[in-house]
Amino acid sequence: MPYQSGEVPVVGDHARHITGKPGKVTAVALNQGNLRNEDQVRVQWDDGSTGVGLAPASEFIFVSKPSPSEIADFLSHCPVCKEPKHVSHDRDFLKVALENNEEIRACSICGHSWIVQDHEKDNLRKALKEGIV
Ligand SMILES: [Zn+2]
Repeated sequence: MPYQSGEVPVVGDHARHITGKPGKVTAVALNQGNLRNEDQVRVQWDDGSTGVGLAPASEFIFVSKPSPSEIADFLSHCPVCKEPKHVSHDRDFLKVALENNEEIRACSICGHSWIVQDHEKDNLRKALKEGIV
C-alpha cells in the first residue's frame, strides 16, 4: 500500500504521520512489508528525532515532493539485478550516515533494496565532498 493519500513513496518526500507529526522520508522499501504489497518508509521527524524504523507507508499522508537540492543520486550495485542501479537519497541524511559510518539502505526503481557496500560509501563520500552528487 502507498501513502494513505495514494502516492507512491519516494525518498525525500515530506510526509505527515497519521498522528500529525511531520517528517522527511529517508528510506523506502516497496512491497517488502510483513504484509503482501505493503510499502514501508523510514522517516526523520522534522523535530530532529529518528524514532521509527521502517513503518507502513499507509500510516503517512503525502505532503510535498523534495526539491532537487535535497536529493543526491548515485549508482549502487544491486545484488539481485547484478548491475549498478540509480539510487536516490536525501542528501542531508546521506552526509550524516556517511560521517557516522551508519548503514545506508539503497532502494532502487528495480524494486530491490540492499545495503550500500563500504567501497561504494567511500566513493560517495568523495563525490559528495567534490559536489558531484
Ligand atoms: Zn535490482
